Amino acid sequence: MAQVDKEQRKPEPGEIVAVIKRILAENGRDYMGQYALATVCLVAVAATTAFSAWIMRDIIDEIFYRENYGLVPYICGAIVAAFAIRGVASYGQAVILAKIGNNLVARYQQRLFDHLMKLGLDFYSSARSGQLAAQISQNVTGIRDMLSITLTSIARDAVSLIALVAVMIMQDPLLSVIGLLIGPPLVYSVNYLMRRLRRVTRESVEVNSHLFGAMQETVQGISIVKAFTMEEQLSAKMADLAAYAENRANRIARVSERLTPITEMLAGLAIAGVIAYAAYRAASAGQSPGSVFAFITALLLAYDPARRLARVQVNLERSLVNARMIYELLDMEPPQRDAPGAVPIEVGTGGVAFRDVSFSYAPDKPVLHDVSFDAGPGKVTAIVGSSGAGKSTLVALVQRFYDLDSGRIEIDGQDIAHVTKSSLRAKIAYVSQHPYLFEGTIRENIRYGRPDASDAEIEEAARLANADDFIARTAFGYDTLVGENGVTLSGGQRQRLSIARAIVRNAPILLLDEATSALDNESEAKVQDALEKVMKERTTIVIAHRLSTVVNADTIVVMEEGRVVEKGTHRDLIVDPAGLYARFHRLQGERSLELVDDARQAGETDA
Ligand code: ADP
Repeated sequence: MAQVDKEQRKPEPGEIVAVIKRILAENGRDYMGQYALATVCLVAVAATTAFSAWIMRDIIDEIFYRENYGLVPYICGAIVAAFAIRGVASYGQAVILAKIGNNLVARYQQRLFDHLMKLGLDFYSSARSGQLAAQISQNVTGIRDMLSITLTSIARDAVSLIALVAVMIMQDPLLSVIGLLIGPPLVYSVNYLMRRLRRVTRESVEVNSHLFGAMQETVQGISIVKAFTMEEQLSAKMADLAAYAENRANRIARVSERLTPITEMLAGLAIAGVIAYAAYRAASAGQSPGSVFAFITALLLAYDPARRLARVQVNLERSLVNARMIYELLDMEPPQRDAPGAVPIEVGTGGVAFRDVSFSYAPDKPVLHDVSFDAGPGKVTAIVGSSGAGKSTLVALVQRFYDLDSGRIEIDGQDIAHVTKSSLRAKIAYVSQHPYLFEGTIRENIRYGRPDASDAEIEEAARLANADDFIARTAFGYDTLVGENGVTLSGGQRQRLSIARAIVRNAPILLLDEATSALDNESEAKVQDALEKVMKERTTIVIAHRLSTVVNADTIVVMEEGRVVEKGTHRDLIVDPAGLYARFHRLQGERSLELVDDARQAGETDA
């Protein structure tokens, strides 16, 4: 993932607070009521905890020391009530916080998904999809954790601690000082561990995303893996990654748990000190034991919230690392928003004109140079050229996937840079050479062409695309599931479905990337026939690989290294025997126009 910052950045001072503020600002209002309720529950837990320490003195002094048995029912009743309240409140806060957390996760997943769809194609050409998915699923919980950690640590742990310290001070101020001596060394060791943890956490998130990414890529490319018998190499690579991930996870466990022995030892020291001092005082001053018991109870109970508070920052930082990655993604500006004042495009006949178009993906590496040609309305314009000549780039630019460096692309006289992208794309149907089917039924896959298409229109499109016969043969017809978990369709069948999708779209402009991979003859004929139907009466720009497409095209644009080197009809171009097209055509004993390459080479040796 090139774009998401990989360096192990230290949280800047105040960054945790800033991120929490941002999460709250973006979501807080919707959860206000629930947070208030959770806070009430958390405070109730804290109060009952303090109460159970405080009541200790009366239990010891009144019942056992002064033998005031009349108080027993009241004290017992109060204890039962306190524990009941504590139980209900603990349940309440846990359920409410979980609900808020799950809702936050769902909300951010949706937000990220919507955002990712807006990002430009350039983002995807540098991001690995597998790693991206893994990063998102791992990191979204960071957002949730930051809020719930903050809330529980303030409302439950801090309130408990303050209440318990108050109980201690009320019982015995001097003892309190002894007990609280463990504070400073605790803070020091926490700070030290935090620095270590930050690094391992970031490393671990990264190695895990590599791991999941590698798995996903292997699954996607499984046929290549098997064909090249890459299993052993990949397995060895995976073993390294997995071992590294395991090692990082162990480091995290060791570093973050290292706090436990430190706090336990400090707590032991504090409690032993208190007991020694209390025993000394009971022996020398004859004090009643109640306050000491209440004090020790408060001290023991204070230990848990204190320990959790000591780790708050560690946990917050860990979540911060995750939350930050999510925000880095969300903050990526979707490129090329609509120009200010962009209007919907009006497409009548759909004539497309390239006017001196220059374009580069990366600075200083121009891919297209001053490309000009007209794709006449209702006509077929075939683009031919060797691989890398810039044919796909032309097609991407018509859809305005990228902005031009200079020049214009006009549709019916309107510069597409000044119209809204959604209106532009609504007028275009695109058939890729790799027909992609999404999870869902055949019907849904065709309907992606136009969401409001009726079932009848979908079936008509399938018929025109020569897809109805094979659809009828599937078990559930149009309701048959396709995509990753669906039935397996042949390449030709997939192509016909994607042609049906384009027919349903019923757009005036058709962009077509002819498949290079050979289909069997029957399939090929059906696909070809379907394409001819969809091209009829539409302005078609086709990246042509088949001789018949080229020969029948109204205009042929021959591209070489990002330049238009020849244009005209087949008749025009065939005349000049030294021309690239004519040379190609001479060599064209076979079907694929990729032979343009060979044509050029042949030309070079001729010369
Ligand atoms: P063709 O379709 O004729 O094979 P392309 O339009 O795909 O050619 O590619 C033209 C040039 O642009 C090639 O040199 C290719 O490496 C480069 N190119 C294509 N897509 C990208 C991209 N997303 N980022 C950077 N360079 C690209």
